[in-house]
Amino acid sequence: MQIIERTCLENLFDLLKARGYDLFGPVARDGAIVYDQIDHVTDMPIGWHDRQEKGTYRLEKTSGSSVFAYAVGPYSWKKFLHPSAHLLWKAARTENGFELIKDEEPEKRKPAFIGVRACELNAILIQDKVFLGGQAVDSNYQANRAGAFIVAVNCTHPAGTCFCTSMGTGPKAKNGFDISLTELIEGGNHYFIAEAGSEKGADILLQIPGRPAAENEIAAGDDALKQSSEKMGRKLDTENIKELLYANADSPVWDEVANRCLSCGNCTMVCPTCFCTTVEDKTDLTGQHTERWSKWDSCFSLDFSYIHGGNVRTSVKSRYRQWMTHKLAAWIDQFGTSGCVGCGRCITWCPVGIDITEGLAAIRNNQTEKNNEI
Ligand code: SF4
Ligand code: SF4
Repeated sequence: MQIIERTCLENLFDLLKARGYDLFGPVARDGAIVYDQIDHVTDMPIGWHDRQEKGTYRLEKTSGSSVFAYAVGPYSWKKFLHPSAHLLWKAARTENGFELIKDEEPEKRKPAFIGVRACELNAILIQDKVFLGGQAVDSNYQANRAGAFIVAVNCTHPAGTCFCTSMGTGPKAKNGFDISLTELIEGGNHYFIAEAGSEKGADILLQIPGRPAAENEIAAGDDALKQSSEKMGRKLDTENIKELLYANADSPVWDEVANRCLSCGNCTMVCPTCFCTTVEDKTDLTGQHTERWSKWDSCFSLDFSYIHGGNVRTSVKSRYRQWMTHKLAAWIDQFGTSGCVGCGRCITWCPVGIDITEGLAAIRNNQTEKNNEI
């Protein structure tokens, strides 16, 4: 482990840029922390903190110098790896039919993602399984993911809606990163404990001015992460979660939630693991040109479950139940892991404050009451 002084963080940016990476990281914009292209450390939300609760997100600017003292915002890294819309192909009419048009692809620089939280890193690893781990590989995701450099940030400022500790996905990044950073500010000292997670990362770290971490600094980092674990705003009991949800398709809790749910799909748009898409064809008015696009879809949209001339999930209840049961139970059968990393976004960005942790706890309580009656 190595200590990088705050004043040397820019060296990391310079080294990555010199190696052909475009940098993407958090910026404070439009009242939220969002991810976008960045060039310098000063582009990041220095001194900003967030407050999150169900259906609530507020940013506050302080005079502090912290670089990463906030939790995740509405965007996740799927914005870059699995964008909300991308062109699959386009074609022009010809005398005998049509021909596909292939544009010259501009040369793409590799992305370096700066400030990836442990929960988000786990979400990327889950999407790797979905898009790259099966028989059919998603070539768009594969191209976006190839060569990405990941600078993870161990999270010391969890939000009121976070529960990564319950899901075993944070607050410390364990694998899947090139470099991880733990930010510490003690008195007048502002520094990062940096750890390499790959050869690429180790090679970069060697070139940043720094020194080996002292025992007391490592202990301070561990302590900050222990406190972070204890400060998580939410908890989710994962014991027998799959069996619990499979056995409760008829729980009255689904009706209660469905009475409030607007079926707006916000929870699936902000979720870093949700991956469903639809396909849209666009033909211009001349009829000479057509394009096929892939776009994010949601299990909350009616069209999404339209199969063979009919919709198989016509009620909001059936759509909410599908989302939560897939996320927390069926995903385990399908991909060998939960589909939830405990980032809390679906709770913060639900306009009516529906909370996945409360929903699961209610189903569990209901089941316990039923068991007690027997
Ligand atoms: S279900 Fe909610 S808490 Fe879980 S990963 Fe998705 S957005 Fe985050
Ligand atoms: S749970 Fe909330 S965010 Fe999700 S569809 Fe229902 S109202 Fe929208």
